[in-house]
Amino acid sequence: MTRPKIGFLFDVDGTLTTFHANDSVIDLLIINDLETIRKLNFPIGLITGRSVQWVRNYFFNHVNDTLKEYIPVFGEFGLVNWYRGKKVRKRIKKELRELLRNVKKECTEAICEYRELEPYESYVQPDQRKLWIEPKEIMITFRTLPLYGLTTEKLLRNIEPIVKEYANELKIVPNPYAVDILPIKTSKKTAAEKAIRTLDKEKAVTKWFAFGDSETDREMSYAKNADVKFYKIPRGVTREAHLIIERLLAGSPE
Ligand SMILES: [Mg+2]
Repeated sequence: MTRPKIGFLFDVDGTLTTFHANDSVIDLLIINDLETIRKLNFPIGLITGRSVQWVRNYFFNHVNDTLKEYIPVFGEFGLVNWYRGKKVRKRIKKELRELLRNVKKECTEAICEYRELEPYESYVQPDQRKLWIEPKEIMITFRTLPLYGLTTEKLLRNIEPIVKEYANELKIVPNPYAVDILPIKTSKKTAAEKAIRTLDKEKAVTKWFAFGDSETDREMSYAKNADVKFYKIPRGVTREAHLIIERLLAGSPE
């Protein structure tokens, strides 16, 4: 009897990584798990708000090339994806693209003026009190710097009034590490649907298992035309994800 094919969807930050000084670091146990899943030829998709570039160049730092090529990335909530060796951006209207550009500028100016900050755009945390903007291709990400009092709540105070003006087009997704701004219809659900379509063209996967550390990640389980079970992992407790993966790979009941 051949084993039923199962698939895995993972949020990245806080699910596959722990945070050290505001930096997201992958756990070695998890790398082993991903390797085991690959050897069984079960599909894996990363469903993240992070950019493809960050995942490929920072998160995958300690991952071998075979695994790096095996795992597609559905980045920026599925707006920019990486699979079969190339990057594919979701087509979005020119007006929306322009709106995002303008909102980014408006928010940056408002925060910088109010908090007397200089903008700083990089994947790497600044070593001074600055407005840390994480590079993204389509969505917008302002990172928190709690060390300098720049918390989610404080960033939201400047961002919310601006984004509210475009409530039909844009939404805010906050977490302790960042405030994300993205198109209203973009979500972990749409990203998971894209991942499932891409990873299981023959519809051979009988069940998907999705892992995340926030309620936003739960949206993966609402993906249409697929059976997706969601596991909520306490933020940064990667050991928990590891134990569940082990159990599922051993064929134990969920
Ligand atoms: Mg997360």
